[in-house]
Amino acid sequence: MSHKINPYEVAIKQLEKASSILKLDQQVLEVLKRPQKIIMVNIPVKMDDGTIKTFTGYRVQHNNFRGPYKGGIRYHPEVNLDEVIALAMWMTWKCAVVDIPFGGAKGGVACPAKYLSQAEKERLTRKFVEMIADEIGEEIDIPAPDVYTDSQTMAWIFDEYSRIKGYPAYGVVTGKPIELGGSKGRTQATGYGVAICTREAAKVYNIDLKEAKVAIQGFGNVAYYAAEKLYQFGCKIVAISDSQGGIYDPNGLDPIDVMNYKQKTGSVVGYKNIRKISNEALLISDCEILIPAAIENQITGENADKIKAKIIVEGANGPTTPEADEILFKKGVLVVPDILANAGGVTVSYFEWVQNMQKYQWEEEEVLRKMEEKLVKAFYDVLNVSKQYGIDMRTAAMVLAVKRVVDAMKLRGIR
Ligand code: NAD
Repeated sequence: MSHKINPYEVAIKQLEKASSILKLDQQVLEVLKRPQKIIMVNIPVKMDDGTIKTFTGYRVQHNNFRGPYKGGIRYHPEVNLDEVIALAMWMTWKCAVVDIPFGGAKGGVACPAKYLSQAEKERLTRKFVEMIADEIGEEIDIPAPDVYTDSQTMAWIFDEYSRIKGYPAYGVVTGKPIELGGSKGRTQATGYGVAICTREAAKVYNIDLKEAKVAIQGFGNVAYYAAEKLYQFGCKIVAISDSQGGIYDPNGLDPIDVMNYKQKTGSVVGYKNIRKISNEALLISDCEILIPAAIENQITGENADKIKAKIIVEGANGPTTPEADEILFKKGVLVVPDILANAGGVTVSYFEWVQNMQKYQWEEEEVLRKMEEKLVKAFYDVLNVSKQYGIDMRTAAMVLAVKRVVDAMKLRGIR
């Protein structure tokens, strides 16, 4: 499988495609192609053994025409500027598709995240915040968790930023622990959003959810909550996997029971001696609905033609390559793209920020109901654009998002 795809090139290609459908002026396109600001810092961190190591950190602010910049911060050895720019750009489109008043940003620190102690991670985070404190803020740029950063990391960001500014700045970051202004419902939001998009996509194809076989790649936060909700909808979850491999049961699996097993043993593999399948085989297994919810570049030019599912709902970011997209579109497979399908998370992040700015907390039921309304509206907005232009859902989501950003730009005006 191809893993050498440059995300920046993909992001630019997608933007150019949307731009040509919208017949955008070349000068406007040039504005959107480039991030508004790139912040790069070299962060010295005292390690537990007393040595000092320097890690490079980035915050890329792609666009803020529709509101403050918004996007996660990832800690990973392979973080690089091209990747962070692409991810920041996708955040601009994701926020625009679900129509929340944020722009797009992303941050990253190139570091051996897995091998840092908690104390090292805390010192790294606090120093990074100190170095970018004037570039972020409740009304400026609002970070969130991403790969190898979590609610504890967000608590450190909140604390350090508040210390520097001299007041408790709850709205400076989302994905915080509930005790520190985090939102109820955030944990389930992305997975539930994936399930909601799946339900709507099934309506389009007249697929009865109670009869539908669903294969899910991954069994982490997104995959688990998507599986839980789809199981409630009556779907037959026939396959689940993790990095060790997958299991396939044509009679259907109970995700809660499988999760209990995974929590005890570390993997879904071995559950009730059910037939093991590889992650590659899962993608082309017998199902109506496929949910890639693990990592990027899983559905490629090599396997797209063998996919049996009629609907693919992208829980993960970037699981389908552009080559695979073309094959799937020709085959008539409906792909609900990541910037729509997994936007439940950023939508509830927006609600967290709203609650912080209001100094108020909503109940979980209210948060999830509001998230569902936003996603269902976004789903049909995208579907209508796809019908209007006769294009796939990913291109339609891009067309919708780019148009919303350009409309905001034109209304605000450029001096
Ligand atoms: P997670 O770390 O909780 O889970 C990842 C899952 O993928 C795990 O089950 C892991 O075993 C599995 N996995 C790892 N490598 C694999 C491989 N090579 N083959 C098959 N499975 C593999 O992460 P998550 O939060 O569930 O995120 C999953 C995807 O969803 C990522 O692409 C992430 O960027 C995207 N996403 C997450 C959120 C969110 O709110 N968590 C929001 C938007 C997008």
